[in-house]
Parts: sequence; C-alpha cells; structure tokens
Amino acid sequence: MSRYLILNGIVIDCTGSKPRTGAAILVEGDRVVGVGLEAEIRSLAERGGPYKIIDAGGATIMPGIIDVHVHPSYGDILSFEELDIYTGCEYRTLRAAHNLKKVLRAGVTTICAPGSNWNINVALRDAVNAGMIEGPRISAGGRYITTDNAIAAAFPTHIVHPQSSFGILCNTRDEMIVAVRKQLKEGVDIIKVAGDGDSLTSSGLLAGTITFEDLQAIAELTHMMGRRCTIHARSGQSAAAAARAGFDWVIHASFMTDEDLAVVVKHRTPINPTLSLLANTLDWGRDVGASDGLLDAYKRELDAASRILTKAHREGVVFIAGTDAGQGPVPYGEWHAREMEHLVHYVGMSNEEALLAGTRDAARVIGMGDMVGTIEAGKFADILVVDGNPLADITVLQDKQRLKLVMKGGEIVDHLDPVPQPRVYRWEKPQLYWSEPQLMTQEFVRSTARVKPAWMSEASSPTAYQPAKIVKIA
Ligand SMILES: [Zn+2]
Repeated sequence: MSRYLILNGIVIDCTGSKPRTGAAILVEGDRVVGVGLEAEIRSLAERGGPYKIIDAGGATIMPGIIDVHVHPSYGDILSFEELDIYTGCEYRTLRAAHNLKKVLRAGVTTICAPGSNWNINVALRDAVNAGMIEGPRISAGGRYITTDNAIAAAFPTHIVHPQSSFGILCNTRDEMIVAVRKQLKEGVDIIKVAGDGDSLTSSGLLAGTITFEDLQAIAELTHMMGRRCTIHARSGQSAAAAARAGFDWVIHASFMTDEDLAVVVKHRTPINPTLSLLANTLDWGRDVGASDGLLDAYKRELDAASRILTKAHREGVVFIAGTDAGQGPVPYGEWHAREMEHLVHYVGMSNEEALLAGTRDAARVIGMGDMVGTIEAGKFADILVVDGNPLADITVLQDKQRLKLVMKGGEIVDHLDPVPQPRVYRWEKPQLYWSEPQLMTQEFVRSTARVKPAWMSEASSPTAYQPAKIVKIA
C-alpha cells in the first residue's frame, strides 16, 4: 500500500472552512487518512511505516475537480447526425475510453455523465473502477428518456428513431417506466430525462414537453430503486415541473420566469446551468464559422440564463458546475474548470462558492458526497496541487501549466503526458459532399469555377435576361 505525506502548501479542503497554511495530508492506499497540522500528521505518518513526501512548494492543495455534465460517448460532436448516427457502438466506446484520459489529466477526478449513446457510460464506469482504463470516477447515466417533442429525438418523424440515438423514444408514461426499469437493471446511477429542446431545434423554448405526472412517475420509481434523476430543462416549465416532481437536480434552467424560480427555490432543487457550451460558442464561434443564427440564439439564452440564475443564486439555490464536455465547443479535457469562472461572471457567485460548485456541492448533489468532493479523512484521495489561489482567481484552475499534481484514489496521474487527439474515423463525421457552404449556382460557376461551360466563356456572355413575352389571347 502506498503512503504519501503531502505538505508545504495551502490546503483548501472545500468543506467550507478557511484555507490552512502549515497543514499536511496523509494518504494511505486510495484514501485520505489524516488532514491537520503538519507535525501531527507527520507523526501519524511515521507511526505507520514507510511513506513518500510530496512537497507542494507553497502551492494550493485542493480536492479534484468534479464536472457534473460530461458526455464521454459523444466524441466532440458538431451535429446531431454525428451524435446519433455515424459512429458505431464499438468504435464509440473505445474513443470514449481514450477521451476520458484527457478529462482526468485536466484535474477532473469525478464526472457525472447524464446521457449516453447505448450503455457506454456504465461500461466506462466499471472499467475505470476495475483499473482497466484511465479516467475519472463516473456517475453513469444511460440514454435520455425522450418524447418525440424533446431534444433527444432530433430527427423528423418520417425518419425512424435510430437505436444508436442518445435518446430512447418514450411517448407514453408506460414506455417511460419500461425504459427506466431497463436502465436501472443495466446499472445506471442516474436517469436523464429530456424535458424540452434547445435554442436551435426547439419550436418553443418557454414551453416544456413533458408533464408533471410523467416526471413524478419517473422520479418515484428511480428513487425507490435508490438512484437519482435529472433533466435537460431549458424551459422554466420543465425546470419547475421537475423540481415539483422531486428531481435531484435540473440542467440548464435558462428560461425560468420568476414563478418557475419560486418553485425551484421552494423545493430546494440544485441547478447545473452548463453555461460553458453557450459562452464558449459566443466567445469563439465566429472563429470557427458559427452561423449568425446560432450566435443570436445562444446570446439570447445566455442573457436570459444570467438574469434568472443570478436571482436564483441570491435566493439560495445550490449550483453545481458542469460543462457539457463532449460537444464541439467544449472538447474533453479543455474547459472543465471554466464553468466555475462562468458561475462567477454570469451568476454572481464568489470564487469560493464557484469552487464549491465544482467540488463539494457537485459531489453531494450527484450522490457521491461521502466519497469525494472534499479533502477529509475517510474520503478518496482525489487531490490536486495547483500553483495559484483559486479563492483569489478562479481562472488559475484552467491553466494546465499551473497543475502540479493530479492524484486520484492515492495514485499519481501522469497528467503531463499528452493524450493524442484521436484520428477522425471515416464514418465519424457527417458525410458532406464538400466543406464550403457554397452552392453551385451559375453565379458561382461564372465568378469562381476554373472550368466553365463553353457558352459562359463566350464574349457575348452574360446576356441580359429577357423574360418570356406574355401574349394576351383575346
Ligand atoms: Zn448535455
């Protein structure tokens, strides 16, 4: 059993207590066995046999980051077609295992994975726990429980819903119950429901698409079986209905009215806003050719979310940090810690509150509060050493140069070893005929194409267009 004494740093244990200088941490096997004054912990270490010292060099010692919204099975997607269709289960699973390394090496030692193609999250969780693959701890969700009216049934009704989709189509309550029962049997930790659409695909974002009674039935069964449930709810209607039905947390909640918020406050339902997807797209969308329509829609949503979530924070709603990593704007291993900055910037949280949203509070809400989220005796030794003070500047957690140590379960992660970007598999991306958004109009051919029809090259061309004469017949 390996033993480490971590010392000479400022310990931010994320229990809510003050940072401590002159403190030390003793790790034995996969657990923290002591946190306290250095002399005390050192003598504890000496009593138990040989140990190694990790000198933090004055840096911050804190628990590993928790991202409650990561989709390992997606693969940094840029479209629904890519998400649902192009990559098969086998390659998708292997790619997900590869991408998990990036997440862990960014200092994220636990994720919640609300939503998956197939049952990939459960397989990843078990493979990580068995020590077969490298990755963060995973709270695993299955396919979204979706109706035809919500985000996980992305294609028109004349297309048969793909079995490879991230959603399982359930248009009646009976179908929902069957799907929930099967997922619980297949070993999910959480049930994920699609409560409505998104800013691009939805016909109406202020309207929910699933009834309170349906949500209540799902929550009742899920809780009876000892698991948790969450919902994709951009609309206030779905967010409030889920809160009333006893859902464990709500994802997004961007378009709540004051009345919707009052329901969420009353039921003390935590929110994971997932601002990263919106903010990253707004910050860098122009650079990657995002359309005006996309940018306008995301701007409207971020403005609405910022307004109501700032109010929610003031009224005591618990926030937890999650990024939607696995979507193109939020690639694996890149921006997990940036959500905490967004919680400060857009929701008005203090640096400390945001840090707890990405550690202690995240762990509690996803049901892992007794294992991770803080540095305390008895918990897993998931520990970071970071050059800088996140309580003074929350952005220090984003800079990989500042990450000095990543420890998960008492084992040191080789976080500086770069994880190569997987090569793009032939069928992974949508099969576009060409890459420029350009149609082959006559104007395009005339002005740009290297090969032109003979008539176009003739000196007389182009001739003025003459409409056909309309001859009146008496
Ligand atoms: Zn998501």
